[in-house]
This record gives sequence, structure tokens and C-alpha cells, in this order.
Amino acid sequence: MFENYEVWFVTGAQLLYGGDAVIAVDAHSNEMVKGLNDSGRLPVKVVYKGTANSSKEVTAVMKAANNDEKCIGIITWMHTFSPAKMWIHGLQALNKPLCHFHTQFNKEIPWDTMNMDFMNLNQSAHGDREFGHITARLRKPRKIVVGHWQDAAAQDKIAVWMRVSAAWADAQDMLIIRFGDQMNNVAVTDGDKVEAEMRLGYHVDYCPVNDLMEYYKAVTDEDVKAMVAEYFTMYDHSPELEEEGTEAYTKVWNSAKAEIAIRRILKDTGAKGFTSNFNDLGLMDQIPGLASQRLMAEGYGFGGEGDWKTAALYRTMWFMGQGLPKGCSFLEDYTLHFDGEKSAILQAHMLEICPLISAEKPKLEVHRLSIGIDSETARLVFTSKEGEGIAATIVDLGNRFRMIVNKVDCIKSKALPKLPVASALWIPRPNLEVGAGAWILAGGTHHTSFSYDLTVEYMEDYAEIAGIEMVVIDENTTMPEFKKELRMNEVYYMLNKALN
Ligand code: MN
Repeated sequence: MFENYEVWFVTGAQLLYGGDAVIAVDAHSNEMVKGLNDSGRLPVKVVYKGTANSSKEVTAVMKAANNDEKCIGIITWMHTFSPAKMWIHGLQALNKPLCHFHTQFNKEIPWDTMNMDFMNLNQSAHGDREFGHITARLRKPRKIVVGHWQDAAAQDKIAVWMRVSAAWADAQDMLIIRFGDQMNNVAVTDGDKVEAEMRLGYHVDYCPVNDLMEYYKAVTDEDVKAMVAEYFTMYDHSPELEEEGTEAYTKVWNSAKAEIAIRRILKDTGAKGFTSNFNDLGLMDQIPGLASQRLMAEGYGFGGEGDWKTAALYRTMWFMGQGLPKGCSFLEDYTLHFDGEKSAILQAHMLEICPLISAEKPKLEVHRLSIGIDSETARLVFTSKEGEGIAATIVDLGNRFRMIVNKVDCIKSKALPKLPVASALWIPRPNLEVGAGAWILAGGTHHTSFSYDLTVEYMEDYAEIAGIEMVVIDENTTMPEFKKELRMNEVYYMLNKALN
């Protein structure tokens, strides 16, 4: 879906150095944009929008960016010294993500040939500081990338920002629908939906389960049959599961029916994610966990028990990670495993874990589940891949949203013969004691959105664009410092709110 988007590249200059200089700036910029696009490292196409040489030109290009649906953000770079007062009005108007690329056309200093003509052109060293000052003065959220435009490390940083900006654009047109309400009395997954729409862009609606049931009833046997056949091809399963007429077969059949119904209502409403509640299942004979697992793998956001914030965050993280190899999932801190330095948290849910994180071909199984409806219930069972990842959540603190990100290491999980659900097993960094302790201190949820492919940098870019608080728990976290950070943030956000 990145191919529907573009990022604009605007070069700052001025007319002081004459028309020839502007022509050269233009030629260099074209070459750089072509180089960036040809690098193969950027997921979104860069479109060169020319040089901006005056306040009028800056404002015009920023306003055009705001109004262009394909444009998800702007990269600025000051080839020559571009007096920054001319950027004030344009930057004030800009409402798309901004990346300030501190680079230079020339890679190395041409010691023997460098003359004043060269210096009139290669002025990023001071030009980008002038621009940096005005973005700081305006308190403009932005990402700063420093590096030569041909270097992979700099390109990769731009790629991260592009993925985040694309996910941001996706979220500005995101609908999450809730089948049933929040689980009664639960605090941490609830929050201010008005503030979420103002701050994060997405919209949350309630959808009566009765509406879903109209879709459920309308699913034809032919459609279910095709879906069940797909299950049996895609997933390992015991041969008995294919015996028509058995209870297990019926449960698989009805799961397929639920999946088709949910997918159709999501398509018809244009929703990009949904939540379920095990107390509100209409005519369904089991929790539609298998449907949730498979829809998550397609990119639909999901949150259990009405958790719309996690559903939206999952969709956003899935969107950022498109095409990356290891996958993401909705997860819940399920139960603890104390084992000294290897102390870990089992990550699972009653059913709804995304098969993208599976280490092996998932197994389709039917087992009893006593929550909601006490019933035999279909699900995909697997254990997760090993490796590093991040777990993220957003909580509502009353006066602001706080995003909490924890670096975690997934270790080998084991089968649970008496509780056959999909699972992961991770050690939070720096260890269980500090990792879980800091998470709890920050007020984090038991639900998370987890990804192997994304790094803290992605979430940092996201929090910067959204203008929300972000705290990171990683190998460097200590409880006293973390506590101090939370206290400082409390003051910062209180003042920020009072001043804006
Ligand atoms: Mn849950």
C-alpha cells in the first residue's frame, strides 16, 4: 500500500547567489532525489518539488502538500543558506509530517579545487542550522536525519520515517468498530475517544452485534465450504477434523461463517480494525477467535474485550511493517515465569494471537473454552519465533496519551497441552524485574501491540508526529531514572497543555 503514497522533497535556497546557482541547486536536487529513489531502500517514492527561494514559494508548496492526498510528508534540505524567516508561514501551515534531512550534495571536501563557487553551493553545514533554528523556535514536530544522501544508514532512517508517515496517513482515515462495549469495569483499555480522534486521527464507532448477525445469517454454505477448504490447505490439523457431522467440524464450519461475516461488515463499513467482547456474541456459538487471528494477519486492527486503542495501534504497527519479514501481533501478559535472570512473561490470549509471528505452520485445533460461551472453540495453535522485538501500548492518563514501548527478547516457548493456544515467551529488557516494574509504574496495559520488525525508532517517529508522550523501557532503564522521567514528563505535559 506504500505505492499509493509519495513524499515531497523541497530544497531551500535563495536568489542571492544568482540564477546560475539556483540552476545548479536544482540539478543537484534532481540527482539526489533520483539517487534516493534508485537506492531501493525507500518504501515510498520521493518527488522533487523544486527549490523554495522566498516566503511565498515556501508557503505555496506547504499548502499544496496539505491538500495533496498522496503526499504523506515533506523532506526539507537547505542546499544554500536559506534565511529561515521565509519558512515561518509555510511551516506554520504545514500539517503533514516533516523530515529535516541534514545532508550535502558533495560527499567529501574537494581540498585542491574548492573555490568560492563551490562554497556558494555547498552550504548545508550552516544553512541547515538556520532552518533547524526556526523549526525549534516554532516547536515544529520533525525528524532530523543526518548523513550523506548516498549512505545506506541515512536512507534507512528516512525509510523508517516514511513507513511511520504512511501509517500516520492511514490512521487519519481509520475507522475502528466495536462489537460490544469495553469489558465491564476495566480501566486501562478504556479512554477518551474524542481526544483519540483529535490527537491520533482515528475514529471509533460502536456496531451492534445484531448488525453483524445479519451478515452472519446471510453467509451461504458455499462460501463457508470454500473457506473451510482454505483452512485445511493452509494449516496443519488432525485428519478427524475433516469428518463432517462431528462437533469439531461444526465448530470449524461456524468459525469460517463468523470470519466471512466479520470481514464483510468491515469491508462494507470501511473499517480498518475491530474489537470483540466475549459477553456479546449474538448468534455465534463460540468466540470468533480464529476469525480475529486471520483478520489480524490481513492487517485489520484487533483488540480483545473492547480494547479499541490497542486495535488501532496494532493496525498502525502492521501498516508500518508491511513487507518486513517477521510479523506482529496483539498480545496479552498471560502468566509469569520466575527463573532468575531468565524470568519471562508468557504472552497469549484466550485465542487471538496473530499467526504472522508463528515459528511454524500453525495448527488448526478445536478445544473447549469456558469464557463467554462454554463451548468447543476453533483456534490456530503455534509458538512464536525467537528474537528481539518491541511491545507497545497507549494509555490515557486523563490529561494526555502516553505511549509505552518495551524492548523484549522472545525466547523459545513450549507447547501447552492442557491449554492449547498460540503463545510467545519473552524476557522484557533489561530484565523482568525492571521491565515489568517500569511498565507498571508507567500505567501500561496488559494488552500490547507487538512487532519483531519495528524498532524503538519507529515508535519515536510516531510519537513525534502525534505529539504524544513516549517512554521507552530498554537495556538502559533503571527504576530511579525512569521514575524521574515520568515525574518530569508530568510537569512538561501539564505546562504544555496550559500553554497551548
Ligand atoms: Mn484480554
